[in-house]
Amino acid sequence: MTTVLPFTPEVARETEPLWERLKTVVPRFEWEMKAPLVAAINRLKRERRAVILGHNYMVPEIFHGISDFTGDSLELARRARDTDAAIILFCGVHFMAETAKILNPGRTVLIPDLEAGCSLSESITAEDVRHPGVPVVAYVNTPAAIKAEVDVCCTSANAVQVVESLGVDEVLFLPDEYLARNVARKTKVKVTAWKGRCIVHEQFTVEMLESYRAQFPGIEILAHPECSPEVCAAADFVGSTKGMIDRLDRPKSGRVILITECSMADNVQGAHPELEFVKTCTLCPHMKRITLEKVLASLTDLKHEILLEEGLRLRALRSVERMLALPVPARADADPGE
Ligand code: SF4
Repeated sequence: MTTVLPFTPEVARETEPLWERLKTVVPRFEWEMKAPLVAAINRLKRERRAVILGHNYMVPEIFHGISDFTGDSLELARRARDTDAAIILFCGVHFMAETAKILNPGRTVLIPDLEAGCSLSESITAEDVRHPGVPVVAYVNTPAAIKAEVDVCCTSANAVQVVESLGVDEVLFLPDEYLARNVARKTKVKVTAWKGRCIVHEQFTVEMLESYRAQFPGIEILAHPECSPEVCAAADFVGSTKGMIDRLDRPKSGRVILITECSMADNVQGAHPELEFVKTCTLCPHMKRITLEKVLASLTDLKHEILLEEGLRLRALRSVERMLALPVPARADADPGE
C-alpha cells in the first residue's frame, strides 16, 4: 500500500524554489502530492552521498525536482564517469545505468525500476554482432553485452563524428535503423544499418509534420534523428536532445515543436518564456516507469543495484571510452542541421 506523505509547511518552504520552476507545467494539486516525495528524496540523497542523474525524458518533477545533473545519454555518461559520489542513482533506462557502472565500477549504481528498458536495446543480441566483417559502431542504446563486442559506441549527438573517426570506408551501425540512415546521409562512409527502431520516434510521420505546419504557420520543427529520414528531411533542424536544447538557446521567439519524447518540452519550457511550445503526446513507456515513489524506495533500500561481471565490463569499457575520448560535439547552433 502506498503511504501518501503530507504537504506540511516545512515541505512547502523547502520546495518553494522548485515550485517556482515547475508551476507552468505541473498543476498545484499534483505538486502538493509530489513535493513531499521530492523533499524526502533530496534529504535522503544528501545523507547517502548520492548523485541523481536525470535524462531529458524524465517527468518535470524528477528533472527539475531531484536531479543533480540532467542531459542526454552522452552528457550523463560523462557525469557518471566523473562523479565521486558514493551512489549514482540513474533516472533513465537500464542501458544508461549500465553505462554508468561500466565507467565508474567503484560506485553503487542504482536504477529505480529494472523493467525500464528500451526497444532499441532489446532489438539485438551479442550473437548478432559477432564476426560482422567490418568495424561496428553501436549506439549507446545497447546492453553491456553488445558494447563488449563492438569497436566503438556513439550517441545521437556524436554519431557522424564517431563513424568518421574510424577512418574506414564501411561500418555496421546498430541497433537503430533510422539513426543509421540519418548518419549515412551526412557521411561518405558506407553505413549498413541494423533493424532496431525506437517505439517513440518511429510514430512520427511526414503527414504529422505537415499538419503541424498547417495548424501553426511559421512553427519551427526540431526532430530527433531516431525519427525516419523522411521525417528528419521535413523538419527544420535535426539533433539529439542536447542539440535541440542548444538550438532553443538561440535568440528567437515564436512557436516551436520538439519531435521527440513529450516530457522534453515540459522540461525546457521554463527556461524559454519567449517561446510557445506546441506539445506532442508521445511518451516513452520505459522512461515513464521511473517515478518519485520508486526513486524514494530505491534510495531507501539501495535497490536495484546494477552489477556487471568484470571481464564483460572491461570489454564494454573499451568501446565506451573510445567514444568519450573524442572531443565534445560542437554546439548545435553551429550545426547546419538537415
Ligand atoms: S525513447 Fe526510444 S530510444 Fe529512448 S529509451 Fe524510450 S524506446 Fe529507447
